Amino acid sequence: MSVLVFLEHHDDQITKGSLAILTKAATLGDPDVAGVLVGSGVTAAASQAGKFGAVRVHVRDDDGVAAALPQPRVDVLAGLVREHGYETVLFAASVLAADVAAGLAARLDAGLNWDLVDLAVEDGELVGRRPALGDSVYVSVGWTGTPRLALFRSGSFDPSATAGGEPEVVPVDGELEDFSLAVTMVEQAHAESEGPSIEDADVVVAGGRGLGEPGNFRLVEELADALGGAVAATRAVVDAGWYPYSAQVGQTGKTVSPKLYVAAGISGAIQHKVGMQGANVIVAVNKDANAPIFEYSDLAVVADVHAVLPKLTQLVRERKGG
Ligand SMILES: Cc1cc2nc3c(=O)[nH]c(=O)nc-3n(C[C@H](O)[C@H](O)[C@H](O)COP(=O)(O)OP(=O)(O)OC[C@H]3O[C@@H](n4cnc5c(N)ncnc54)[C@H](O)[C@@H]3O)c2cc1C
Repeated sequence: MSVLVFLEHHDDQITKGSLAILTKAATLGDPDVAGVLVGSGVTAAASQAGKFGAVRVHVRDDDGVAAALPQPRVDVLAGLVREHGYETVLFAASVLAADVAAGLAARLDAGLNWDLVDLAVEDGELVGRRPALGDSVYVSVGWTGTPRLALFRSGSFDPSATAGGEPEVVPVDGELEDFSLAVTMVEQAHAESEGPSIEDADVVVAGGRGLGEPGNFRLVEELADALGGAVAATRAVVDAGWYPYSAQVGQTGKTVSPKLYVAAGISGAIQHKVGMQGANVIVAVNKDANAPIFEYSDLAVVADVHAVLPKLTQLVRERKGG
C-alpha cells in the first residue's frame, strides 16, 4: 500500500495542507510513504517532509517547472507511479492539486475519490469517507484498482511532526510531454493580505449580512486584529461585493478548522456550516435568537453585532495590554 503524497509549496515552504496529508499517510500502516515536490529551487524544502512521515521525497527541481501549471506535474507523478509502483497517491485540496489529480486520473486511467475527509484501512482495504447529500451524511468509498487517487477537503487533518528523520531525496529528471509544455504562465498575482490566512489561522472572525453594510466589516477586522486572527466572510457578502472571494467560507469557498470561529451577523446556512463546523469553539453573535447558527454554536450571543463587536475588541485589547 505504498503511498505518494503530492507536496505543494509556497515560496520555500511545503503547505500546511500537504503536510497534514503526509501525517495521515504515515498512519496507514505501510512505512513506504513518499512525497513529491515539483518546482524551481524546491530541493531545500524536501527535508521538511521527513518530520511529517516521508521516508523519501522525489524532487523535480528545475526552472522549466517553476510555474504552477498542472500538466508538467502530471508528467512527473505519472512517471513516478509507473516506475516505483506507488499504489496510492494523495492530494490536499487546492486549485492546482485538483487539476493535477484529475489529470493524473485521466493519464493513468485510475480512480479518483474527491472531497474525502478521512481515510482508513479496513479489513486490508483502503476506505475513504466523503460527505454527501449536502454534507448531511458520510459515505464510505473505495477503489476498484490501483493506483488509488484521493483528494482531501481542506482542514480534514492536522499536520503533526513526528520523530521522523531526514528523508532520502531522489532527484527526478526525464522528458516532459510536448503538450505539457504548450502552456505558459502569463501572470501570477498574489492577493495582498496581512496576518495569517484563514486556513492557517487559530482564530477566524467571520462577518455576514447582519453587519448591514460593507464599511462595518471594519468591526470584524478590528476584532480579528485584536485576537491575532484572520477575517472570513459568507457568500452573501462576497456576492454583494463587500468582501473578496478569497475570504469566503463554505461549500463554494474555503473550509477552515481554527481553534476559535466567531460568526458575526451570520445566519448559519448549511452551505456556510460545512466550511466551518470543524472549528473547536464556535461563538455566534446574532440578534435573532432563532438563527440556525445557534444550533451548532458553543456560545450564543443574542445581540446586535454593532454593540457587541466593539466591546469585545476593547476587552481583548485590554486583556492583552494593548
Ligand atoms: C449552491 C450554494 C452554495 C453556497 N455556498 C456558500 C458558501 O460557500 N458560503 C456561504 O457562506 N454561503 C453559501 N451559500 C449561501 C447560503 O445559502 C446563505 O445564503 C449565506 O450563507 C447567508 O449569508 P449570511 O449569513 O451572511 O446572510 P443571511 O442569511 O442574510 O443572514 C444574516 C444574519 O444576520 C442577522 N442579523 C441581521 N442584523 C443583525 C445585527 N445588527 N446584529 C446581529 N445579527 C444580525 C440576521 O438575524 C441573520 O441571521 C450557498 C448557497 C448555495 C445555493
